[in-house]
Order: sequence, then C-alpha cells, then structure tokens
Amino acid sequence: MHKEEEEEEEVLYWVGILADVTSRKTSETAKTEFISLASHQLRTPLSVLRLVIETLLKGIKGPLTADQKNLVVGAGEYAKRMAETINTLLSVSLSDEGKIALSLTDVSIADILKTVQSDSKEECEEKKLACTMQCQKQLMVKTDGKLLTEIVSNLVTNAIRYTPAGGTITLRASANAKAVTIEIEDNGIGIARVDKDKIFSKFFRAENAMKICSDGTGLGLYLVHSFVILLGGTVSVESEEGIGSTFTVILPITPPQPR
Ligand code: ADP
Repeated sequence: MHKEEEEEEEVLYWVGILADVTSRKTSETAKTEFISLASHQLRTPLSVLRLVIETLLKGIKGPLTADQKNLVVGAGEYAKRMAETINTLLSVSLSDEGKIALSLTDVSIADILKTVQSDSKEECEEKKLACTMQCQKQLMVKTDGKLLTEIVSNLVTNAIRYTPAGGTITLRASANAKAVTIEIEDNGIGIARVDKDKIFSKFFRAENAMKICSDGTGLGLYLVHSFVILLGGTVSVESEEGIGSTFTVILPITPPQPR
C-alpha cells in the first residue's frame, strides 16, 4: 500500500464499552465524608477519656490499689489504640479527598529513621526484637518530613507486629544522584505469593497475619502507598512466607511539583 493511500484510510467503526460510574463515585465520596465526620466526632470524647485515665494513674484523685491500677492501665492502652485507629481513618479520608498539602523541606533521613527507631524501642524490647539502623548521617532529601515519618513508622510498626519474638528488624537507607532508597527488613512471618499484590489495597489483611494479630485495620499499607505516591516515589515488597519481608521506598531527590 502507498503511503498516501495509508494516510487517507478512514475509521469505519469502533467498538467501546462505556460505564457510568457516577453512582459508585458518589457512594465512595459519601463513605469518605462519613469516615471523616465520624472520626472528628470521636476524637474529642476520646481525648477526655484519656485525660481522665491519666489523672487516675497520676494518683491525683487518691492512690489506686494494684488491681485498680492494672485495670486503668489496660483501659489506657485500649484508648491509645483507639486514638491511633481514628488518626489512621482521618488520614485515609484526607488522602482520599486529595486534601493533604505537602510541606517540602530538606529532611535528614538518618534523623527520621532514628526517631522511628527510638519511638518503637519499648515495643521492640517487650517483644525481644533487635532493631538496627544502617544509614549515612549526611543523607538528605527534599520532601515532606511528616509524611515520610508516617511512612517509615507504619512500615516499622508492621515489622514489629509480624515478626515473632527474638527476630530482627533493620532500617536501611542509601542514595544515588537521583533517588533515596529506604528499606525496612524483617525476618518475620512473610507474605504468601498470592497476597503480595493485594497488601497495599484498602482493608486487606493476609490470613497468616490475622492468625498472629487479630486487631489490625488493613489500612496502614494503603496509607503508606498513598503517601509515597504523593511524594513522587514508589513502594514495593520482597517477601517469602516464613522467611521475612523487605519493604523498599524510593523517593526522588528532586521533589514533586506542589499541587
Ligand atoms: P494491618 O497491619 O493493620 O493488618 P496494613 O495495611 O499495615 O494493615 O498491612 C496489610 C497486610 O499486609 C497485613 O495485614 C499483613 O497481612 C501484610 N503485612 C504488612 N506488613 C507485613 C510484614 N512486615 N510482614 C508480613 N506481612 C505484612
């Protein structure tokens, strides 16, 4: 066929499938708005509850017996967990609504890893987990420090949760001219091959995870993924069931354009 003939060819017909997703989008928006409203409403009474618990534990209203103290400490732990869940739900709705504004500054990766490591020291000690860090002091990236802390913190929380006592967790970071790579490695329960593609989706929890920890939300990795995308990066996982997992976050040295 000559070139001219080719250019004159006309499309005679095409086949396409269109689906109206208006009602699905409306219901998703309604769900997100409901979660946002419910979380805001729960925050205040929960703060008051935590304040009351703190007051009792400080003995301001009189000394507690050992039994009473145990009960109040238990209530405090549940209230803390509830506050964490509410914060996660709020973050999910803010992220889904595209309402997270980036605040880009020069961030020290070592400082972020150190903060998360020291915040999880108590939990690691309780579970007899070794948590080590390998990162050059001067590693810097222009990014949103608060979001990056949330990302690393979520990954380390999971590593602690899904690694049996006596295990090891390693926080590692390196960089080249274009990107910073952060890895969170554990030698815990690992992820089955069939589950690997699902773990970043909303509410997904693998069977082996539910067996050793009944009260997760399945929202942590969804948030990690959303935040990493906002920062212009990628997140992936290498894992083998029964051997362990390594989550890798790669962030560009050049920050994303503000939206
Ligand atoms: P949650 O931990 O509350 O269940 P996440 O969204 O943080 O929710 O994680 C989703 C699922 O991914 C977990 O339920 C678990 O099945 C799997 N997972 C995440 N991190 C790890 C890990 N370090 N080791 C093994 N499985 C993991």
